[in-house]
Parts: sequence; structure tokens; C-alpha cells
Amino acid sequence: MTNKFPVNRALFDDVMAPNYSPSAVIPVRGQGSRVWDQEDREYIDLAGGIAVNCLGHCHPALTSALKEQGEKIWHLSNVMTNEPALRLAKKLVDATFAEKVFFANSGAEANEAAFKLARRWALEEYSAEKSQIIAFKKGFHGRTFFTVTVGGQEAYSDGFGPKPGNICHAEYNNLDSLKALISDKTCAVVMEPLQGEGGVISPTDEFVKGVRDLCDQHNALLIFDEVQTGAGRTGELFAYMGMDVTPDILTSAKSLGGGFPIAAMLTTTAIASHLKIGTHGSTYGGNALACAVAEATIDTINTPEVLQGVTAKAKLLTDGLNAINTKYDIFAEVRGKGLLIGAELTEKYAGKAKDFLNASMEEGLMILVAGPNVIRLTPSLVIPDTDIAEALARFEKAVAKIAQ
Ligand code: PLP
Repeated sequence: MTNKFPVNRALFDDVMAPNYSPSAVIPVRGQGSRVWDQEDREYIDLAGGIAVNCLGHCHPALTSALKEQGEKIWHLSNVMTNEPALRLAKKLVDATFAEKVFFANSGAEANEAAFKLARRWALEEYSAEKSQIIAFKKGFHGRTFFTVTVGGQEAYSDGFGPKPGNICHAEYNNLDSLKALISDKTCAVVMEPLQGEGGVISPTDEFVKGVRDLCDQHNALLIFDEVQTGAGRTGELFAYMGMDVTPDILTSAKSLGGGFPIAAMLTTTAIASHLKIGTHGSTYGGNALACAVAEATIDTINTPEVLQGVTAKAKLLTDGLNAINTKYDIFAEVRGKGLLIGAELTEKYAGKAKDFLNASMEEGLMILVAGPNVIRLTPSLVIPDTDIAEALARFEKAVAKIAQ
């Protein structure tokens, strides 16, 4: 395809809404964990489209599912149903606590469905009084007005007029803070089983169990937002599986489609029964093409080779980061679970996470940040070990430049 105009970063400023500030680098193709830009410069990708490209770029299983379904049927309205959606739903139900699935297109939409369902469940099972939603500070649940208000960062939800009501925020990893807010008027407590955007913060076992107990005591639903942690990222198919706690509702997106937009809300039959005909919906939710790709993604991820590989690859990466830290003393802590890794900068480098990201790009390495002080890595779950070694070598060069 030829353009009569240059496609470059300046064009972004001309034609795009200014809510993002992307890099000047324009990647045009990818294979596995490598990406090439318009100038054919090669990068190793430890960002994975923000925890999306869980099988790297153009994985053969996903490409062939896309092509195969693409030549059959792409989309049907929800007046019909379709084979890929039912196959994917059956696989998700068989693999998890859930008995029912609702498909959406993004993490925010899956969460929107979860929050609406929790409110409807409480209204029908109890009373209109039971509508409080409790979430956690620094949590992130999406950008629709309901989900961004449930998210624990006011900076994202302020400035849009009156907010959806009866939402409050407790401190993550602080049961007393939740105890002070929860009551029989709480309909749901929403948490990420590892806060991603908020800085890669794991909950303690005691905290997660305590949240479950408090929900049970007050007949509140426990919603796990697994948009970032789900689909193999932590070394389990879903993070709750490594936690000894089962949520009532779970949301998944990002890695679920391996790079194709799809999301799912999973729950039990009893809770799902409150989403009666016409109560909620989505034109694209359950799109056949998306479900076919997600089915291939789940089939590929939900295997001992891939899930055990996550733990082994996470060790290689964190050992490498710790070794770099021994030399340059840049990290106060390297943390996370599986291939959701956070490295918090020391005081000396506070606020400079973006500088490390930019310096890494110059060395041919894509990484992420989670706030101003944390470098975040969310690579492909099947990144070759040789790419990890090369990525660490490139990262060390970037660190050396900044530490100079
Ligand atoms: N929930 C969590 C935990 C997330 O990390 C994100 C995105 O970063 C979302 C929800 C929102 O997902 P989406 O951007 O697909 O709407």
C-alpha cells in the first residue's frame, strides 16, 4: 500500500486526539519477541503492548486461527450465536471456578459489566440500600466513567463532572482500612490480585484471605480484576489459582486475545442469573474472529510447558535485573509475580522511570513503566531465553548511560 503523505510522528499530532504522547518510533512488524520499525531497526519487546501480546507477535497458532476464522465468518450479532464464542466460553468455564461467561471487548467493558452485575445482584437479592462498591487506592480498572471512578486514582476520574456514586477506596494490603468501610450495604469489593498500573504490588496471603472473609461476613461479592494478571501472566492461568481464594466474579482482557481485542467476565450461574435478557449487552462482545483467536491463545497458554516456562523465564529476568542492580545500585526492590515484573527505583533515581524507558528504546529495547518510580516488564510468556539474555544486555547499556 502506498501513501501520498508521510506517516510519521508529526502526523499523529495533526490527526489524533492529544490524549496520548507516543514515541517517535513507529513499529511496523513483529515476530516473536522482536519488533522492527519503519527504518528496519530491531527492538526486543519486554512491554508486550502492556501485557497483551502474551505469545509475542504473529504467533503461528494465533495467525492461523485468525486466517482460518477470517475466511469463514467474522461477526454475527448477539441475536445469533457463534461457534468460536461457545467453544471459548466452554474452555473458560472448564478451566476456572466460573459457570457462565459474558464477552466484551476491553478490560474496562468487562469491569463495567461486573460492577453493573454486582449492583443488580444486590438490588434483587437484598435491597436498593446495598449498592456500595469498595475498591483499593492505586487500583486501576479502566477508563469508562464508572470503571475509572472505581479505580483508585482520582487524577484519572476528576474533571468530568459528577461521578457515579457510592464508591469508596480502602488501602491495599491493609485489612483495617477495609474493615472501616465495609458493611452489609456493600455489594462488592473489587481488587486486582496484583496491582499492575499502581506499581506492581502483590497482596499478602493474609490480606487476600481477609478480604474474602470480610466479603463473606457482609454478603458482598468479591470481584477479581484479572485484566492484567490473567491468561497465564503470573504462571497460573488466572492469578487467583495460586492464592487459595476464589472470587465471585473475575474479569479478563489484555492477554486473553493475545493482541486481538476481547474481554470476558466470568461468574457463577447464581450470580449470572441477574443479567436477565436485555439487562446488558455489547455489539462486538463475542465477535467470532476475536473468540477464535482467544480460543487459540487459551489453548496455547493453558499447558504445563507455557505456564511452567513463565516461572523459569521470570527467574532469568529477575536474576538478570538483580545482577545489574548489584553493579549500578538503581533498584530499591525487584518484585512481582511471573512475567509481571516491577523494579522500583532508589531515591537517587526517583521519578526517572521514563528516562530508563527512553534510554532502553535507544538501545533497541521496549520496556514499560508503572508510575514515575517503577520500571515494569510484561514480555511474551514464551520469549526465548536468548532474547531475555540480549534484552538484559541492552538494558544494562541503557542503565550504564543513565548511571554515568
Ligand atoms: N483493569 C486492569 C487491572 C488493567 O490493568 C487495565 C488496563 O491497564 C484495565 C482494567 C483496563 O483495560 P482496557 O484498557 O482494556 O479497558
